[in-house]
Amino acid sequence: MIVPYLVAPEALEELLPDQPRYRVEQLRQWLYRHPVLTTAEMTNLPKSLRAELAGRLWPMQVEAQQTGDGGRTVKWLFRAPDGAAVEAVLMGYPRRTTLCISSQAGCAMRCTFCATGQFGFERHLAPGEIFAQVAYANAHLRAHPMPDSPARVGNVVFMGMGEPLANYDSVREAIRRMIEVAGMSGRSITVSTVGITPGIDRLAAEPWPVTLALSLHAADDHLREQLVPQNRRYPIDDLLAAAQRFQRGHGRRVTLEWTLMADVNDSADQARSLAAIALELGAHVNVIPMNPTPLAPQQRPSPERTRRFVDEVNRHGATCTLRDTRGTEIDAACGQLRVRAAT
Ligand code: SF4
Repeated sequence: MIVPYLVAPEALEELLPDQPRYRVEQLRQWLYRHPVLTTAEMTNLPKSLRAELAGRLWPMQVEAQQTGDGGRTVKWLFRAPDGAAVEAVLMGYPRRTTLCISSQAGCAMRCTFCATGQFGFERHLAPGEIFAQVAYANAHLRAHPMPDSPARVGNVVFMGMGEPLANYDSVREAIRRMIEVAGMSGRSITVSTVGITPGIDRLAAEPWPVTLALSLHAADDHLREQLVPQNRRYPIDDLLAAAQRFQRGHGRRVTLEWTLMADVNDSADQARSLAAIALELGAHVNVIPMNPTPLAPQQRPSPERTRRFVDEVNRHGATCTLRDTRGTEIDAACGQLRVRAAT
């Protein structure tokens, strides 16, 4: 049985060879423009077709759903038929709804502070499995709007499980479907990477103005290698050069992500060096206090220490904001629901 999201949107005709073209177009609209949780809601399709598609609408099933922050954060653990599990987190704000999605089941990058990294790599996600996370979140919002937030995903960030640039072709195709088929704007999609520089160059050559976020986490190679082992292959200078090429190509400002860990990368020295890098790059800095995980030794700094770090970066002329850590009570950091399911 073929799952419609696992077929390219332009190839849906092949899935439904006996249906007229307008019928295929109606299905495409449901899948990409107006997703719904069940085929029963696809009211303009004949009942027989709805029944035929009923058990195979979604490529992955929801194994767990958690809600927090007064209904403004929802986290899903999706499970594919082969057992691969990924997470997505939906966050509602007054003027935007942001979805954090996964690009791989597990991750081969082995960042030492990350729950997913400790699990290792399971497999790449297919384009349809990546896109279906966005579609599912939109279907959920349609059925269960969040208080005071838009009932549609406005921003997608590749900050869930996996390194998106290590699964480039699938991520590219998922982004294409979001923009060219579902009608999202490229600017509302953020690809976050630990720094696969050939992937950054490929992304820079794409026609869509997506946002690039570099997960820096340390301002010198010695410390960064301890946190992000991939730094041995693509050290900071290479990363920054690739970021500059991306900015030149797209005219889009890169953001620097910094997961703040107590007594690891929260010193005044690191703040000053980070500010220097951000100024040279013209990049904005997002600081995210670490969400502790049972699998990693690093801890979250105190709110005072966090504030001091952000102030220090700003004091040296860079623009730095503290990102809110949504869903702490529902294990909303990347990989944590997966950890709980496996332990
Ligand atoms: S932080 Fe991102 S890149 Fe690093 S191990 Fe975790 S999922 Fe992979």
